[in-house]
Formats: sequence, C-alpha cells, structure tokens
Amino acid sequence: MLALYRKYRPKTLSDIFGQETVVEILKNAARLNRLAHAYLFYGPKGSGKTTTARIIAKIANCEKRQQDEEFKKLGEPCNQCRSCLEIDKGLAVDVIEIDAASNRGIDEIRNLKESIRVSPANSYYKVYIIDEAHQLTREAFNALLKTLEEPPAHAILILVTTEIEKMPATIVSRTQRFQFRKLSLNKIIEKLKNIAAAEKIKINDGALELIAAAGGGSLRDAESLLDQVVSLTTQTNAEINQAQTNADDARTNAENNKSQTNADSPTKIFEKNLGGQAWTNPEKIPRSSVIRAEDVERILGQ
Ligand SMILES: [Zn+2]
Repeated sequence: MLALYRKYRPKTLSDIFGQETVVEILKNAARLNRLAHAYLFYGPKGSGKTTTARIIAKIANCEKRQQDEEFKKLGEPCNQCRSCLEIDKGLAVDVIEIDAASNRGIDEIRNLKESIRVSPANSYYKVYIIDEAHQLTREAFNALLKTLEEPPAHAILILVTTEIEKMPATIVSRTQRFQFRKLSLNKIIEKLKNIAAAEKIKINDGALELIAAAGGGSLRDAESLLDQVVSLTTQTNAEINQAQTNADDARTNAENNKSQTNADSPTKIFEKNLGGQAWTNPEKIPRSSVIRAEDVERILGQ
C-alpha cells in the first residue's frame, strides 16, 4: 500500500495545508512570472517546506504555463504535462535534490557550483532543492555563497531548513525567506479526518486526536502514525479467512473428541486450537470495528 503521507502529498500550492500566507505570496509570484532565484524555506519538520519546493520546481517548468496565458494566471502547476509528471516521479534531470544531512554536502555543492552554470537539459529552469541546509559545512556554505551572489538566469535555488538560526547571515540575506508555521492540533486532526474519510478508515475522534498529538505538530509524522495504527489494528481478509478456517477445524476436533475419553473438555480444546490466532490476538481488532483511542494508546505504548 502506498504510504498515506505520500498518497496525500499536496500537488498544488492550494493543497499546502495551514500555510496560507506563504501560499498566497508564492502563488502571486507565479501568476506574475516573478519567481525568485533563491528561496529559504524554514520552519518545523512536517510543515510542508520540501513539498512546496517541489511545487515551485513544477511551476517553474510547467509546459502548460508556457503555452496557456489564462492557465498561467492560476499560479499553479498543471500536474499533467511531461515536466510536471517527471518532477512528481522524481525523474526530472533538471530538478536536483541535495540532502545536506547525509554527507554535509561538500561534493554536492562543489558539483552544484559547476553544474548550475550549464543550461537545463530539457526544462526552462534548473531547480536545486537543498534539504537540511543548516547542516552544510562552512566550505560548502562558502561555495554556495558565490553561487547566490550571481545566480544564473536559468537557476532557482531553494534552501530548506528546520534551523534557520544555524544558517550564516550572509546566505540568509541573499534569499527570499518564507517561514512555515507549526500546524495546530486542530488543523492536523482536520487533515487526518479527511484522509480517514477518503480511505474509508473507521476511526473515532478520540483516536484521531491522540494520533495528531503524537505527531508533535508534524503532519507527515501524524500521517505515518495513522498508517501504522491502521495496519496494526486491521486484519487482512486472508487473516480473517484463516481464523475462520481454524475455528471450523477446532469445532470439528471438538466434535470428534466428544466420544473419546479426554482430559480436556470440548470447549477447552476449542480454545486451545484458537490460541494465538489472528482474531483472538490482542494486537489486532477486526476490520469491521472502529479504531478507538484505546487501540492507539496500546500501539503508542509498544
Ligand atoms: Zn505542467
């Protein structure tokens, strides 16, 4: 199954949840074709920064926007052209994502310095998204600074960070900055409710509140937790069938044993044979029942 957070990842600026100010400003820039060459998106994890960066990459390179003036005025990507689809699949050669946390970005930034000068292969813009940008080394920041001083016309750099205070002021001052806010508990509950409804997940409000709270303000973490809770509390059809077969076998055994002299009563044998089967397993509850706060508590406590 596709992870919920991936399945429900926003595909347009309007889909970005709980960041109205950021969305409005970026959409206006897109409408007017005035995207900046360097952005800094900062704020807590799971607030939509990297997702927004990818949407900006799509807007910059959307083919429909280049051909359709009316569509361009919407300030959104079309999500249907070759470029939009490639970016969604992570296959666009001109959209380069660098994770500064993985090796502190020295080689990547060195490569960036050279490659950013080269025109895009088959897009309008080369877009560099640098995740966890605060983790770059001083050497990498220095290399980046040179690029930010004179970004080529065909390039857009988007720095993403949870810790803007660790970014050098010289870098910060050369970017257009957007603060992403921590989502409120109510906002996260609202989004989880929408997902549960769309996925036909039976879950009560108390359970959703617990999941939202455990996410600690990160929508992505809350969505992943909902995923876990659903998979741990829901039996698959195969498991239900297996449990049914075992119950039938147990009943037959119990019937057969009735005539024999046996220390165990039929009921006892019946219970024995069912022991550990899915539908008596306390870790699982049947699909037909509603996921309750107690179920979530039990999973969180594990
Ligand atoms: Zn498009």
